[in-house]
Amino acid sequence: MYQIKIIDLHFKEEKNTIASFLISQNDSHVLIETGPESTWESLVAGLQQHGLKPGDVNAVLLTHIHFDHAGAAWKLAEEGAKIYLHPLGIPHLASPERLWNSAAKIYGEENMELLWGKMKSISESRLVAASHGETIPIGDMTFTSLHTPGHASHHIAWQLGRNIFTGDVGGVKISDGPVVPPCPPPDIHLEDWKKSMRIILDQNPEKIYLTHFGEITNPNKHFALLDNALDDWANWMKVHFDNENPIEAVEAAFQTYTTRQMEQHGADKKLQLLYEYANPSWMSVSGLMRYWQLKKKGKI
Ligand SMILES: [Zn+2]
Repeated sequence: MYQIKIIDLHFKEEKNTIASFLISQNDSHVLIETGPESTWESLVAGLQQHGLKPGDVNAVLLTHIHFDHAGAAWKLAEEGAKIYLHPLGIPHLASPERLWNSAAKIYGEENMELLWGKMKSISESRLVAASHGETIPIGDMTFTSLHTPGHASHHIAWQLGRNIFTGDVGGVKISDGPVVPPCPPPDIHLEDWKKSMRIILDQNPEKIYLTHFGEITNPNKHFALLDNALDDWANWMKVHFDNENPIEAVEAAFQTYTTRQMEQHGADKKLQLLYEYANPSWMSVSGLMRYWQLKKKGKI
């Protein structure tokens, strides 16, 4: 039987913000998510705790190509691992300049390396496209790719038996904090996201694993909360979109709104900070504003 280990990548020197999952059976070792390159040392230390080094990892399964999930994939590829991902993500990891530049527009070029580390291209011979429903055998384990857009158009939730690794389409929940939807630009799509939640629940999972952060043992309740939170944030944003409020004002108001939600949930300042590290609230303003804009233009 396989074993699932959660490796805490200590993003920004904190616990419980970004996870990588090590799944091992006999001599086969799979990583789901690599985290960013900036937390590479934590990933290596996490592997070491289980008696492994990066070169022992046979395969990396990525939920999507955002830096906090896939930024260190190139290092594992250099160590010989195959990298499995959504076909739409392949060109971006083969030549990451565009991905880097669009992230730099969001985070600011001067913050990029500190946040995410370095990004190098991955040889196409190491990148493997996974279609929806495709099964990937690795040793005696069989993973199934579930295409689950909504957070990102190129998102995959990875299923192993009754465990599903939900990337960001499963939302963010850190320790006993609330369930919230990460909504960065440019792909947020509410209707797709809701369909994706259905796809995951239809597999009748016993446990889901969130990259931000960890194991959830009541998937039905979790997704019901996520569904509500997604509607709540999107509807809140719609009012500001319709009023054409300036983005800086909306960001400030949304920060106040989400802080109040956190406080109502009993989250202390420290936990609120971890949520901001995993899922900055200003980023969800951009993502949801873009969603409403595309919707108004009839493009989605
Ligand atoms: Zn993420």
